[in-house]
Amino acid sequence: MKWVFASKNEHKVSEIRALLPDRIILQSLNDIGWDADIEETGETLEANAVIKAKAVFEATGMPCFADDSGLEVAALNGHPGVHSARYAGPEKSDFKNCEKLLTELKGAENRNAKFKTVIAYVDDQGSHLFAGEVHGEIIHEFRGTMGFGYDPLFVPDGWNLTFAEVTKDEKNRVSHRAKAFEQFLKFLATVEK
Ligand code: IMP
Repeated sequence: MKWVFASKNEHKVSEIRALLPDRIILQSLNDIGWDADIEETGETLEANAVIKAKAVFEATGMPCFADDSGLEVAALNGHPGVHSARYAGPEKSDFKNCEKLLTELKGAENRNAKFKTVIAYVDDQGSHLFAGEVHGEIIHEFRGTMGFGYDPLFVPDGWNLTFAEVTKDEKNRVSHRAKAFEQFLKFLATVEK
């Protein structure tokens, strides 16, 4: 069975491939030769996930899903949230985003944060949304070299290590993306029957 995942981020695609059963062939936007940029103009993670999945479904006719994720920091009133990818400016740098986050949180006692993922699935029957969250804390310095985005600054509740200090499989055990995918896969199992 072939699905399109509306993302060009191969790191994310490989995290998601690890979550899916082998019978599903996951094609990324790179795999289907999709060049165009899909503008994420929504004000919420939900809106952006739907925009991406619909755009690819309408262009290809293939069942498609898209995810949109973000880091919501309590002391920053939920920011960077939907703006997580470009928090430090338009050029999209994980390192600069993390540096900006550390600057914004200087002196803050409350360092609680959560990652949230929303998945939108679109096929000829309509669209569905699924969500997952992981709660944790933003530490004071970078730790670890694995993962991406804010991983080197994020320690999930009950852990001593950041997401950047563990393997993809360990991260997938608790991650926001894995939880949203769990919901999504349960739904697909009912659709496939
Ligand atoms: P996306 O919607 O999954 O592309 O996520 C948007 C932005 O949120 C990313 O560019 C990262 O800055 C941040 N982000 C999302 N998921 C993660 C994660 O699992 N680890 C670290 N940062 C993430």
